[in-house]
Amino acid sequence: MSALNMTPTTGVVVTGGGSGIGRACARALAEVGRPVSLWDLNGEGAAEAAVSIAADCGVTTHSVGLDVTDRAAVDNAVVAAREALGTIGGLVHAAGIVTSMDIDHLTEEIWDSVIGVNLRAEVFVAQALLGDLRSHEGSAIVGIGSIMSVVGSPTIPSYTASKHGVVGLTKSLANYLGPDGIRVNAVGPGYIETPMTSMMMDDPASKAACVEKSPLGRVGAPTDIAKAVRFLMSDEAGFVTGTILIVDGGVTSHD
Ligand code: NAD
Repeated sequence: MSALNMTPTTGVVVTGGGSGIGRACARALAEVGRPVSLWDLNGEGAAEAAVSIAADCGVTTHSVGLDVTDRAAVDNAVVAAREALGTIGGLVHAAGIVTSMDIDHLTEEIWDSVIGVNLRAEVFVAQALLGDLRSHEGSAIVGIGSIMSVVGSPTIPSYTASKHGVVGLTKSLANYLGPDGIRVNAVGPGYIETPMTSMMMDDPASKAACVEKSPLGRVGAPTDIAKAVRFLMSDEAGFVTGTILIVDGGVTSHD
C-alpha cells in the first residue's frame, strides 16, 4: 500500500479493463488497495486480467464481458459489480475504438460506433453508477480522452470529435456532480504502446516519428497513463475537477 494518501478504498469500475490502458489503470488502482471490476467486450481478456491483478495485488477483482453501449448489459453489470466489490466509488472509462476515415469516406455507421463507445458510453455508464457514486465519500470519474481532445487529426474526425466531447462531458458532469462530492476529470494520453497502436508501433518509421514528437524522446507505456488516472481517482486530487490532464511526454507542447 502506498504511503501517499490514496484513499478512498471503494471499488472502481474500469471499462476497457481487458487491454492496454484500461488494464493498467485497473492494476494501478488495485496496487493501492482498491477493488476493481473490469468491463470489456473482450470478456476473456478482462477475466484473465482480473485473475492476475487479484493474485498480484490481493484485492477483490471482478470481470464482465459486455458491450458498453448496451444499456441493459450495463445495468446488469452494475448489479454484479456492486455485489462482487461491496462498494463502487469510481469509474474509469477506458473502453475505446479508433477508425481512420476522413470526411470524404466517413459513414454514419463509423461515426455512430466511435462516438458510441468513446463518448456516449461514458454518459450512460456514469448514469447507471450515480446511486453508488453518490453513496460514498470521495467518488470520482475519469474519462480517457486523448491528445485528440485538444488538437485535431485530418483522418480521424469521429475519434477527434469523440475525444473533444469527453472534455465537454467532463466539464458538464463536474459542475452537476460537484455538489454531491463527485469529482469528474479526464486524462489525455499521447502515443502509448497498446494493442490499439500496435500497427503504428510495429512500424519502425512510424514509431520513430512518435518518439521524435516527444521532448522526452520516447513513446508512453500504459502505466504512464494509469499513474495519472490513479492520482485523479485519489484524495490527492481532492480539489481537482472538471479538467483534462494531458499525459503525452510533451507532444502537444510545441508546433
Ligand atoms: P486497447 O485496444 O488496448 O483497449 C481498448 C479496450 O476497449 C479493448 O480491450 C476493447 O475490447 C475495449 N472495447 C472496445 N469497444 C468496446 C465496447 N463496445 N464495449 C466494451 N469494451 C470495448 O486500446 P488502448 O490504447 O488501451 O485504449 C484505451 C483508451 O485510451 C481508448 O479510449 C483510447 O482512445 C485511448 N487512447 C489511447 C492512446 C494510445 O496511444 N494507445 C492514445 C490516446 C487515447
